[in-house]
This record gives sequence, structure tokens and C-alpha cells, in this order.
Amino acid sequence: MIYLGPAGIPTVSKERTTTGGIRCVAELKLNAFEVEFVRRVGMSNESAKEVGEVAKELGVLLSAHCPYFVNLCSREPEKLEASKKRILDSVERAFHMGADVAVFHPGFYGNLTPESAFNAVEEACRDMLDRMRASGIKEVRLGLETTGKVSQFGTLDETIELCKKLKGCAPVVDFAHIYARRAGKIDYAEIFEKLRPLKLKHLHAHFTGMEWTPAKAPWQGNERRHLELKANKPPFEPLAHEVLKRRVNITLISESPILEKDSLKMKRVFERLGHRF
Ligand SMILES: [Zn+2]
Repeated sequence: MIYLGPAGIPTVSKERTTTGGIRCVAELKLNAFEVEFVRRVGMSNESAKEVGEVAKELGVLLSAHCPYFVNLCSREPEKLEASKKRILDSVERAFHMGADVAVFHPGFYGNLTPESAFNAVEEACRDMLDRMRASGIKEVRLGLETTGKVSQFGTLDETIELCKKLKGCAPVVDFAHIYARRAGKIDYAEIFEKLRPLKLKHLHAHFTGMEWTPAKAPWQGNERRHLELKANKPPFEPLAHEVLKRRVNITLISESPILEKDSLKMKRVFERLGHRF
């Protein structure tokens, strides 16, 4: 299955609520929606249940994006706990919505070596998974997003390594972030090959055009701002081709400035390549 939809309420949605956004997605004949808890988790469990019911009825697959203010590499116990709480609150809402993944940016290396940062993120995820199990939440995966800045933990390799170690964690492949971090390069076939050992039943992913700026090393870059799909940076069609060739079961959330409009363009690309939704 291929699921396509926007990160948050579609630009054309008149009703500026989560349920309004989901209805709009269904009317546009898209089938995925990422609920954005960008600054804080301002939704009750009751509302999350209602959101889940609407989405289920309309056949829209939900995911949740945790607040950005998270750093699982923090050495300050209070900051670490606050980060975990933001993620766990999102996980709880995701559970009540029937979303199977809560996406987050794990943190910053700061003055840690990549190895120590890895251990810190691993330990934090292990603790969150224990707490989730203790409260009966098994269906939601902790979605570690591949990040777009060299200061952030979360290269594709780190993310995959961590997901190999912890059942309950899943990689969220942000293709635009990988493209930015590799200074404007992307090899979709290589990415899917690297993911193969994880034997994922379903891959959750983000896509948008991306402007990037050079980092210290010439082979590295940092994300700067999101661009429309038509910028072709990175190109979408080779990704669609790879997805169809490998029959990847995937959700592609559009994070472009025109959200759902680019989801519809992605849909047309898949159709042009012979896929029928
Ligand atoms: Zn993200």
C-alpha cells in the first residue's frame, strides 16, 4: 500500500481543526495525515479518540509528530525528562487515535561523541518503551526521524542501528533531510538496501523539496528551508520508481510549503508510473 497525505491541516481546508483536516484529506482522495504537535501536545485523550474515529471511518491512516523541543542527549536530568514527557504525551495521543507511529527528532550531539549520543538516545528510548509497556501501549512505535542538520543525532545509519537494537523503535526516513545532510545527494536504492535488514512491514517517511547550506565538511550540509516538489531537490520520481519496483509498503507525508497539493502531485507521479490507488 502507498499512503499519501500532508503534515498537518491541508492549506485548502476551511475547517482549521484536526478532524476538519482529516475530512479534507479524504475529500481530496488522499489517505494519510500526520497530526502535528509541533510546539506542545494540546489535545486531550478524548479528542484523540474522536480524531481516530473520524480517520478510521474515512480510511485515513494517522501518524503523530511530537513537539520539536526534544533532546534525548541532554545531560540535564530535568531537560531529559521533559523531552521524554513530550514524546510520551504524543505517544499516548497516538495510541488513542489509532496512529501506529509517533515521530520525533531525537536530539543534538552537543559536546558528546556520536557514540555517547547514540548510547544516550538508546537509553532514553529503552526507558520510554518500558513506560509505554507498563501503561499497556504496544501498538505505537517510537519513530526516530533522520535529521537534517549535522549537529543533530540521526543519520540514516545511526537510526537504523538503533532500530535494530530496540524493538518498538522504527526509522522515519525524511528523504529531504538525508539529501541536505549529504550536501545535495541522495541514492534511494542505497537507502532501501540499508533498511532491508529491519524487515519493516511498513515504512513511515517524509518528503519535501529542500534548500540546504554547506556544512564544514564538503560532503555535508544542513537543511535550510522546505521547497515545493517542483524544485526537484531532491527529485521525487526516482523515489516513486524505487518504491514501486521494490513494492515498499510506505506512507509519504508531504512537508512541502503547499502540503496536500504536493501530495496530489506525488499521487499523479505514482499513477503515471503505472500504479493504481
Ligand atoms: Zn520531523
